[in-house]
Amino acid sequence: RAKHAGRNRIAFFEPSMQMQVEERLSLENELAHALGTSQLEMYLQPQFTMHGRPVGCEMLVRWTHPVRGILSPAAFIPVAEESDLICRLGEWTIREGCQTLLRLHTEERPMTVSVNVSPRQFHETEFVEMVGKILRETGAPASQLIFEVTEGLLIDRLDQTIARMDELVDMGIRFSIDDFGTGYSSLAYLRRLPLYELKIDRSFVRCTPDDQGGTAIVQSILSLAKNLNLKVVAEGVETPEQSRFLYSAGCDFLQGYLLAPPMPFKSWLQKLKAKEGMQAAAS
Ligand code: C2E
Ligand code: MG
Ligand code: MG
Ligand code: MG
Repeated sequence: RAKHAGRNRIAFFEPSMQMQVEERLSLENELAHALGTSQLEMYLQPQFTMHGRPVGCEMLVRWTHPVRGILSPAAFIPVAEESDLICRLGEWTIREGCQTLLRLHTEERPMTVSVNVSPRQFHETEFVEMVGKILRETGAPASQLIFEVTEGLLIDRLDQTIARMDELVDMGIRFSIDDFGTGYSSLAYLRRLPLYELKIDRSFVRCTPDDQGGTAIVQSILSLAKNLNLKVVAEGVETPEQSRFLYSAGCDFLQGYLLAPPMPFKSWLQKLKAKEGMQAAAS
């Protein structure tokens, strides 16, 4: 094989493969150390009703790496997912979500908090017990907690997945399907799941209102959701045109840079207070 491939190709190929493996391993090690330190931080991105009222926020993890700078979750969540780290990271994100719920409650600004839950984490043997333990320890209201899962979760072990979701729903937690439309979930599955909402993936939102195909997909998701009695969040809303289109198409909630970027809890609280101050001054 080596002969056929030629010396140069092999010489080029092998080090790069090795570097990828080493890179992944060192990122994994560094993440293991970063967990539990201030390098990892939760940002939150608010979600609004069509009339601009804040109703919830999604928790998005940020890693300020001492050498590499701020890393996007897209760069390290997949690495975490290939090891047990996702479970440690996931436990921390749920705990952070619960703490955020309590802080919002203390500030008398109750709203839902959405936490991303990866498939591997969800299928962990102790997952339900772990969630129950965090809820008991923090005293956070489960009724305000939303778990965002992807369609990938539904591909195998569907009966087990549904049973597990039911247990969590009994605890008061709601479920949302993230990046909806990008996976392979069959419509028949959707009906069987105890869901609260769908989040339209931003790749579709981005196409509205000018692109016919994208717009048609968004409209189909909205009518499907309406028929299944589910709420819909549009993610990645960036322009007033998209927002207007989503309003007229009957979307429930908006999330995106047009409204607010992900930010630390403190900044969000300041924004809320500033907005209320402006409203008070205007009335
Ligand atoms: P996601 O759950 O679909 O989160 C939405 C992503 O879109 C976030 O990227 C957010 O910053 C970004 N976004 C929000 N508004 C806009 C917009 O208007 N335009 C554009 N172009 N992007 C927007 P982020 O924070 O980089 O997170 C990427 C993904 O990483 C998330 O996608 C989620 O799947 C995953 N992730 C983030 N935090 C966690 C976590 O704590 N646990 C797990 N398991 N996954 C996480
Ligand atoms: Mg999400
Ligand atoms: Mg999403
Ligand atoms: Mg997405």
